[in-house]
Amino acid sequence: MKIVVCVKQVPDTNDVKWSKENNIIREGLINIINPYDEYAIKTALDIKKISPDSEIILLSMGPNCAEDVLEYGLAMGADSAIHLCDKKFSGADTAATSKTLAAAIKNYIKDFDIIITGQFAIDGDTAQTGPSIACHLDLPVFTYVKKVLDIDDGEISVKYERENGIKVAKTCTPCVICMLKNTEEIKNPKIDDYIKAQQKEIKILNIDDIEMQTEEAGIKGSPTFVQKAFRPEITRMCKKINDNSIKEILSHIREENGKKEENKQQC
Ligand code: FAD
Repeated sequence: MKIVVCVKQVPDTNDVKWSKENNIIREGLINIINPYDEYAIKTALDIKKISPDSEIILLSMGPNCAEDVLEYGLAMGADSAIHLCDKKFSGADTAATSKTLAAAIKNYIKDFDIIITGQFAIDGDTAQTGPSIACHLDLPVFTYVKKVLDIDDGEISVKYERENGIKVAKTCTPCVICMLKNTEEIKNPKIDDYIKAQQKEIKILNIDDIEMQTEEAGIKGSPTFVQKAFRPEITRMCKKINDNSIKEILSHIREENGKKEENKQQC
């Protein structure tokens, strides 16, 4: 079974600076693997335990420094990695990003069985990329997946989260699954895992390698643009009420409401 895991490098902070084109300035930031993508890799490793002849290929689109997350994923136990690195990819919004990842999977990796993404990237946080890849490749997709329960004979069953609780369902492969974090522990790779990972291949591909047109990728292929990026002003003040008697809490709520009514009358 060929499992493609999409992994993204994200800044390890909310304290990001914005360029004048309103894109995140990633230079100088401490970057990490997107936490949800660690669970995507872990899920692929668990599937490999059920079918040992599986191959796990990591796929990341990003600048040179994104190679770090591929090395980390290889040290976790993935078999090989592909780094989509080309100036023509930069400035991509989620539409162009998912189109680029889908092109690499369709035109370069080819006969895959499952594509696993994280549910969200903690920086862009749109949760659009996984489902968009499925759309570009015309595949079934499960989102908010907590766990893969079984995979056999071209069918996969998963446990996934919905507003009204946890559900179980199955679909045929190939498909896309978008992983949530779960309670399983992610073991950090040890030094000798990194040493072994040095022997594994990281292929660096450009736009021609994945048979994409320039106008489909990066800022040229992005139908959306960031008009303004700003940090929301926190105006609500939190008040610690030590005495947890209902009476005390109610009198605080009444007091606050009284103040609001007064302000309304003054306006
Ligand atoms: P989500 O959709 O929340 O991610 C879900 C999952 O998709 C991830 O867990 C991961 O498995 C997969 N995934 C997402 N992105 C990648 C990736 N790159 N490689 C592999 N797997 C991935 N970002 C920049 O870095 N530089 C820019 O210049 C830039 N310009 C932008 C311009 C616009 C107009 C917009 C809207 C966004 C821009 N972004 C830029 C942000 C970038 O487009 C998104 O971060 C990216 O498309 C993924 O969206 P997301 O972060 O919401 O990921």
